[in-house]
Amino acid sequence: MAKRKIETVCVQGGYTPGNGEPRQVPIYQSTTFKYDTSEDMGKLFDLEASGYFYSRLQNPTCDTVAQKICELEGGVAAMLTSSGQAANFYATFNIANAGDHIISSSTIYGGTFNLFAVTMKKMGIDFTFLSPDCSTEELEAAFRPNTKAVFGETIANPALTVLDIEKFADAAHKHGVPLIIDNTFATPVNCRPFEFGADIVTHSTTKYMDGHGAQVGGCIVDSGNFDWLAHAEKFPGMCTPDDSYHGIIYAEKFGKAGYITKATAQLMRDFGSTPSPQSAFILNLGLESLHVRMARHCENGLAVAKFLKDHPMVDWVSYPSLEGDKYYDLAEKYLPNGSCGVVSFGVKGGRKAAEAFMKKLGVFAIETHVADARSCCLHPASATHRQMNDDELMAAGVRPELVRLSCGLESADDLIADLKNALEA
Ligand SMILES: *Cc1c(COP(=O)(O)O)cnc(C)c1O
Repeated sequence: MAKRKIETVCVQGGYTPGNGEPRQVPIYQSTTFKYDTSEDMGKLFDLEASGYFYSRLQNPTCDTVAQKICELEGGVAAMLTSSGQAANFYATFNIANAGDHIISSSTIYGGTFNLFAVTMKKMGIDFTFLSPDCSTEELEAAFRPNTKAVFGETIANPALTVLDIEKFADAAHKHGVPLIIDNTFATPVNCRPFEFGADIVTHSTTKYMDGHGAQVGGCIVDSGNFDWLAHAEKFPGMCTPDDSYHGIIYAEKFGKAGYITKATAQLMRDFGSTPSPQSAFILNLGLESLHVRMARHCENGLAVAKFLKDHPMVDWVSYPSLEGDKYYDLAEKYLPNGSCGVVSFGVKGGRKAAEAFMKKLGVFAIETHVADARSCCLHPASATHRQMNDDELMAAGVRPELVRLSCGLESADDLIADLKNALEA
């Protein structure tokens, strides 16, 4: 089949019904699957045959939707998880053990920062956090013999920094480790990190992919480009026998699908962050219109950013696609069709003024959420990032007065009128 355009993949990817089969993706609401013989089932347990036996590991509805996201990103294998948190945990823990080290951009989602800096640290995995704007020398200096991956977000939530993916990919590859990119805010409609050298992409599908605030979910996609066997001493989990599956070597037996197979066979088996088939179905409804919605989110985001930039009550505005923004040039390179609907800005008067301003909003609702059809806003320093001290906040690119707006799909005129009214009240 000829390579289809992204719009077509959004609508039709992952599922091609046969003659007389349902047009819409069927929901396989079943925990288990029936087999004629114990031998048939044994082959599945030994990973000798592929098929379904228990929905904690794999489910046909979830796999169909994972396959669509895989095609959107241009990868070779993908899996859904029950949340974006689970996706980032599995993506890193799949290749790092106690005693290992990972380099991460410091401007990442607060939940991911906590996962890395607190929870995974307790598991014995050490993280170095670097500014996405660091020099190549600073990046080089962060690598250690036990470094196993580099991590960053295409567009950081909520700092809205744009990662120079090629710079990070080059450094990672020079040291024989993969680059993992959380592509939640850009979505594959606006950026496909594999085209710039990233090896693995993760998503919180809770955001634009679902787009309606209806399901929490995540996804991991593997480009298939990272050669694990060429760095076998660094990745024993991929390149030496797995005793829990009769000595299978993932990178040998499954080739380009080895990384996702390992994450499914070991991490989903043992941790069970499984999405429900219902949630996968809802996610797929969102994906069908992702390309149409992203264009509108970006149009509204840019209109709002332009309005704020010129308003006397506004100290600063951050929006990568706004001319003059610190990340405008990187956005032009990595996000030529637009970035996202999220705009951050500082109200004059600091933290207090930010809180007062938010009380006056009507169209924008106060929510711990971004990236859905309904516009919303958040004060991260008092919500998602409240565990951080002021130094950590600044390193994460979150100033205390920062207000994060998520521009939905309403009329830009109404969004601007709402902001104008609250700023002037
Ligand atoms: C929301 C978010 C996450 C976490 O995803 P959940 O689905 O809430 O678990 C991870 N990364 C980014 C960039 C996010 O915006």
